[in-house]
Amino acid sequence: MKDTAVMETYKRMNIAPVSGRGSWLSDARGSRYLDFIAGIATNSLGHGHPALVEAVQEQAASLIHCSNLYEIPLQKEVAGLLTEKTDFDRVFFCNSGTEAVEAAIKLARKHAYTGHGPHKHEVLTFTRGFHGRTYGGLSATAQASYHEGFGPMLGGFAYAPFGDLDAARESVGPETAAVLVEPIQGEGGINAAPEGFLQGLRELCNAHGALLIFDEVQTGAGRTGHLYAYQGAGVVPDVLTSAKGLGGGVPVGAMLAREECASLGPGNHGSTFGGNPLAMAAAKAVLEVVSEPDFLEEVRFKGSVMKNALRTLADRVPGAEVRGEGLLLGLDLGPELAPEVFEKCLQEGLILNVIGGGTLRFAPPLTVTRAEVRTALDILRRVVDSLIAVPEEARLGTAVA
Ligand SMILES: *Cc1c(COP(=O)(O)O)cnc(C)c1O
Repeated sequence: MKDTAVMETYKRMNIAPVSGRGSWLSDARGSRYLDFIAGIATNSLGHGHPALVEAVQEQAASLIHCSNLYEIPLQKEVAGLLTEKTDFDRVFFCNSGTEAVEAAIKLARKHAYTGHGPHKHEVLTFTRGFHGRTYGGLSATAQASYHEGFGPMLGGFAYAPFGDLDAARESVGPETAAVLVEPIQGEGGINAAPEGFLQGLRELCNAHGALLIFDEVQTGAGRTGHLYAYQGAGVVPDVLTSAKGLGGGVPVGAMLAREECASLGPGNHGSTFGGNPLAMAAAKAVLEVVSEPDFLEEVRFKGSVMKNALRTLADRVPGAEVRGEGLLLGLDLGPELAPEVFEKCLQEGLILNVIGGGTLRFAPPLTVTRAEVRTALDILRRVVDSLIAVPEEARLGTAVA
């Protein structure tokens, strides 16, 4: 067998997990890793959660797939759960984040087209955002590095600096169909929207008859300690995208919309796999856990413990910064220190990742225990101490010599 058969679109870490339990991954040699990335904010219930495993096993044994040509009762149940716990009325199911974004863009354009005509089709997005890898999501992603070599992008997108409400005001007009924004930017470095920004976008959209779309693919399904981050932010969008943690590792995506803008009808959009019984069984099991108020409160508690500890650590590193909310946190250590800390943590059995060049991302399973949070922080502190101590000792060494 050729070792290069997989088209390598990823820079992979040199570990190969084969099993998982709770917040821990194990490789074939028996090495254990404390998983503080959770499949990029996806294994929301950790690994091997009994309720999720049982739901998937039982569903697999009775019916895995059944076309959307037929009624799928489980789909109605999950849509019912999602709408009951949020401000939305309608759900479209797909299989990934980028597909949820595609659906949201299509819905927004259809809504604008129906109400105003074809000129109203522009979508405003923000620098450092990330909305996925298909052409709609990619065109919405205002980062040149993702576009290079793949042009032309889809027409009708405008970009403004994230957090700059004045710039957004300049870019929104009668041609704007939607404003698409992550309430906390994930891939772009865990950047929370500054105070008033989301509310300002809400008002702009209202003034111009544009839809406000929150991309909550990363922040959703309990990640920030609210079922969806908008519920903590106090700004209600018209449309919301969800995926990553929603199926606890089983591919599920969803686009949620308010009744007034649920503009997609039969024949307008579709997905062969979207909302299949297996995926719906997983999403139902996940939602039943993560939508519990006590569970969300515990996520907020663990998040604040971590955030405070990271802040204390950041105080010792010049220029360092902590960002994020709940169990989606970023420790910005800069492009030199962050990769080193990441490597050393991995050697010590703690899995993190580096985003935006210099930010360590923390996104453990939402079920992570308080003790595991302490363990991860102990490892991190040890690693950072060892690395920031080195240059000083080295300097002393030369001075003495
Ligand atoms: C990961 C992510 C996506 C893309 O999701 P995929 O499932 O990889 O297609 C879109 N938007 C945001 C905010 C994300 O974090």
